[in-house]
Amino acid sequence: MKTTTPHLSKSRFQTGRQCHKRMWLELHRRDLVAWSDAAQARFDEGTHFGELARELLGGGLLIDAEHFLPQQAQTQTSAALSKTANEIPMLFEPAFEHEGVRIRADALQRLPQGERLIEVKSATSVKDEYLWDCAIQTWVMRGAGRPVTEIRLGHIDNGFVLTREGDYAGLLKQADITAEVENLLPTVTAIVDELKAVAAGPEPSIATGPHCFHPYDCPFQDYCRAKEPPAPDYPIEDLPYAGKLIDELHEAGYADLRDIPPARLYNQRHHRIAQAARSGEAYIAPQLREELAAISYPRHYLDFETISFAVPRWLGTRPFQQIPFQFSCHVEQADGQLEHRAFLDLSGASPIAAFADALLTACGNDGPILVWNQGFEASRIRDLATFLPDRADALLALNERMIDLLPIYRAHYYHRDMHGSWSIKAVLPTIAPELDYGELDIGDGDSAQVAWRRAVSPETGDAERETLRRNLLAYCERDTLAMVRLAKV
Ligand code: SF4
Repeated sequence: MKTTTPHLSKSRFQTGRQCHKRMWLELHRRDLVAWSDAAQARFDEGTHFGELARELLGGGLLIDAEHFLPQQAQTQTSAALSKTANEIPMLFEPAFEHEGVRIRADALQRLPQGERLIEVKSATSVKDEYLWDCAIQTWVMRGAGRPVTEIRLGHIDNGFVLTREGDYAGLLKQADITAEVENLLPTVTAIVDELKAVAAGPEPSIATGPHCFHPYDCPFQDYCRAKEPPAPDYPIEDLPYAGKLIDELHEAGYADLRDIPPARLYNQRHHRIAQAARSGEAYIAPQLREELAAISYPRHYLDFETISFAVPRWLGTRPFQQIPFQFSCHVEQADGQLEHRAFLDLSGASPIAAFADALLTACGNDGPILVWNQGFEASRIRDLATFLPDRADALLALNERMIDLLPIYRAHYYHRDMHGSWSIKAVLPTIAPELDYGELDIGDGDSAQVAWRRAVSPETGDAERETLRRNLLAYCERDTLAMVRLAKV
């Protein structure tokens, strides 16, 4: 552990605002940071957009000293700023320091009337935390003598559609947030002083809670949870959509669902969840069997896996559009005969047309299409219909045949081990534990996306790609096999 008080930075200011302990751990125990592969993929997307944004801003001088060499970066910045604005009108990644806080700005534009700070985010709108990002940067830059007169947020325009290969003009949108940031600036000095005291002190004692996820997922959750007493087997957080009620119950001293007097719960679903926790018996309404039995044959159990990009990769697509690259379809006849059909595109080229054709073939013309959470698959099919007008009627006809198993289960089934969730991965182990996802190398949608990105990367060798292909096929197949099983309970 270092003995001197470390410098603060833009990101430490932000994490310190989220949780003093998080900032302290980032400064003193970086070895404990645990980012998931999915989080890393999101960071990589942000970096990609940031690099593209420099081109979209018209180019400029990049201060290229590494982030772990702040003095070198500041020296390069001073040298660049000693030239006239005509010579260097735009700087990327300039480095500044004020009162022990170091920052690297995404972009600094030098204008006749002053300087414009541009913060770039791979998001589609202005969020509160971005205003604070800009507030600490403005505080440092003005403190370092820069005449910052205008502050902008460069973000993604979600109305952008890629219509020409490599042409991203229009993807970057700028919002003037000067007034909002000016409103925050008077409070920055006090926050910096407070965070400096935290940085110089011992590890803060802070319990985990909702702040561990907002505005950003904290990478120290394993560390913090390991030091806390184990949560009850059926915590009150299992109650869905109950933020205010959960706060009230905590204030009243309740932590375990089984201890809550029924009179403190107000809706039927919460009563059902608490009762299942107390009794240990699943709630199964007779309508579950009736509604499932009423579904006709041949049944098509369908599930999609999708990928999205901040910077659209394929013609006709929008930022963050969910594009399906894989499906699994089990077709079940009335006599129980089961056939599996699947599609997976790992070419890296647009999977859209091939996916749609394979889907139409797999689903045929007759029989219900069973999904878990219809909104997702139905939206993807509507997107496909927009992409492929010549197949739109056939694609939209699939949505007419869709039956959603999720609301049937939500209305008529609950087991306490679902912990307040009706996701298929929560329901399945309570009915068919033998189909557990734990035995698979890919166990959730995030991991499937990470695997897809890895598989299409030119750096991935054939053997690894083949392994990823098998793992992806096995995962998606499990999702539809799970539905086959759940439709028979
Ligand atoms: S897990 Fe929660 S309590 Fe622990 S450092 Fe992160 S935000 Fe703070």
